[in-house]
Formats: sequence, C-alpha cells, structure tokens
Amino acid sequence: MAPYTPIVPFDVLSQRLNIAPENIIKLDANENPYGPSPRVSQALAEETYYHIYPDPDSTLLRDALSAYVGVDPTHIVAGHGADELIDLIIRLFIVQGDAVINCPPTFGMYRFDTELNGGKIIDIARHEDFSLDTESIVSFAGNAGNIKLIFVTSPNNPDGGTLDDACLRQLLQLPLIVVLDEAYIEFAGGSRANWVLAHENLIVLRTFSKWAGLAGLRVGYGIFPHWIRSHLLKIKQPYNVNVAGTTAALASLSDLHQLQLNVQKIVKERERLYHALEAFDFLQPYPSKANFILARVIGKDAAELKAALAKDGILIRYFDTSGLRDHIRISVGTPTQTSVLLETLSTIE
Ligand SMILES: *Cc1c(COP(=O)(O)O)cnc(C)c1O
Repeated sequence: MAPYTPIVPFDVLSQRLNIAPENIIKLDANENPYGPSPRVSQALAEETYYHIYPDPDSTLLRDALSAYVGVDPTHIVAGHGADELIDLIIRLFIVQGDAVINCPPTFGMYRFDTELNGGKIIDIARHEDFSLDTESIVSFAGNAGNIKLIFVTSPNNPDGGTLDDACLRQLLQLPLIVVLDEAYIEFAGGSRANWVLAHENLIVLRTFSKWAGLAGLRVGYGIFPHWIRSHLLKIKQPYNVNVAGTTAALASLSDLHQLQLNVQKIVKERERLYHALEAFDFLQPYPSKANFILARVIGKDAAELKAALAKDGILIRYFDTSGLRDHIRISVGTPTQTSVLLETLSTIE
C-alpha cells in the first residue's frame, strides 16, 4: 500500500510556522470555523459517567437522530465518524477480490478502505464538470458479477456538486448496494435519508464533523435498511462511539437553532468567496453546495500557490492526483478569514 499522507496536525504546524494556533487560517479540511455549540463544552464538563463504558446501541443518540433525520431509530447506526461506517460497510459486503465502484475525484476513504480490506477499486471518473458518468457506471455494473458496492457523494468532496434525484434513481436500479455519503448535506439541503425506507439497497451516511463542528470528537451515523443494519451490528465494535462523542452530539442536537445559524453564515460566506475567487484571473471556481470551493488554477502552479499561502499561515488543500493537479480546494471560513485570504491572494501575482 501507498502510505496514507494525512495533513500536518494543527499544533505541529503552528510550531513549525511559528504562528500562534489562533492566527492560523485553517481552510484545508472543511472543518467548521465556528466550532461546536457552546452547549457542548458545558455538557462535557457536566458529564459524570466517563468511567462507564458507553451504550453499544447508542440508544439516546439514535432517538435524538431519529427526530433530526426523520427516520425510525431502527434504521440508524452511530459510528466513530462516518469514516468508521465506510470501513464497516466495505467489510460487510466484500470478500477478497470483490469490487467497489469509486467515482473520482471524490473522498479518498472509499478507495483506502476498499484496498485495505482486500477489495478491488473500479474507478469510473467523473465528467469534466464533476458530474457522474452514469452511462459507464451502468454498463460496468451490468457486466461484472463481483461488484458489490458503489460510493457516491452529494455534495461531492472536493467539488461541492450534488447528485440529482434522477441519477440516484438510476443507480438504485443496479444490482449493487448504493452508499450515498451526505457528509455536507446540511449546507445543501435536500437529504435523501428517507429514501432508505423505500430502497433496500440504499445506505445514507451523515456526520457531525462538518455542520456541527465536532470533527475532533468523531461522531457519524448511517441510515440503513433493516436487513443491512442487523448484519452491520454483528461486526461493529461494541463501544465504537465514546461517552464524550455521544454527549457532544446530543448537546448539538439540543441546540439546532444556533448550529443552523452557523450553517447559514457559512453558506452566505461561500457565495461571497465564490464571487471573490472568480475575480482572480488565475482562478476558476466551481459552484459549490458544500462548505468548500474547488478552483482550477490557470497559468500558475497550484502546489506553489498552496505553499505560498501556507507561509502566511493560510492553509488550503492541494491534491496531487490525476484530474486535480491544477486545482485547489478552499474551505469556507469566517468573513474575517475570507478577507485575509483574499488580501493575501491579491499579493500573489
Ligand atoms: C469529511 C468527510 C467524511 C468524514 O466524516 P467523519 O464523520 O469525520 O468521519 C465523510 N465523507 C466525506 C465525503 C467527507 O468529506
């Protein structure tokens, strides 16, 4: 395997650049610039059962999620981040040699977990506008017998585009389990979580990492048809979601109004950032429904642009992968962070 190259940890970077953590503008991992609800730190301080193992069924969390998502708790499994559920789903459905359809450019964990678990990745690249190549997917899925899963992401990371209903319906006709990753759906609206009730081959994944600002506490969840959930529970580690994560997620769901205001601020800022980036002749941003914007870099080296910003403590994402080498991805920050970013970009000529 190629080693996983994680982004440099925040505190390490702060030391390396000799810039205080609070002055680093971290726009490289789609984290929430407003952080968690204030109720989270209060609930964590008041929690008294850290010495007791957590509930393997995450009963209270699933009940609260049921109200939030609008599906019965018997369809929900909580995970140590959506990342854990991606790994579990792959382990559940594939044996050595089975294949998974991946639609790059997209989130890297589908490939990582498939390969880790002895599966084969079938890459069906997206069109130039990052929409799915549904035609190729359909012809592939119909022709090879050992394809078990397809991962699709809406809004997609890294471009922020969404998958439309007609396209999802077409995928659901295939003899595959369709995993729809909705990690950014709060910034877009239009979740298909309740489609799981009508489709025995659909799984929808969600997370608290982006909209609720809990990336560091690792809480995600999935909405599953009953037949899949019953098997998934057999292979899940019993204490996968810890007490702190559960407490924080529950506190977040009790403070939806506040968190949704933050989401609205980010959406508004996304539109400002998009138009501001458009004004640079070396950048061509793509319209996004998530909390980040992908931009093509024209007439400049994208990796160098990223490095130049990093020197000033502004972190953005560059992907050294085919189809993305001349692109950068910028997470939407606060209005002040956007202003500093734009100011710095305007000094780069
Ligand atoms: C960030 C992200 C995740 C990870 O979610 P966690 O709950 O933090 O593990 C999943 N899918 C996509 C597409 C993401 O960008």
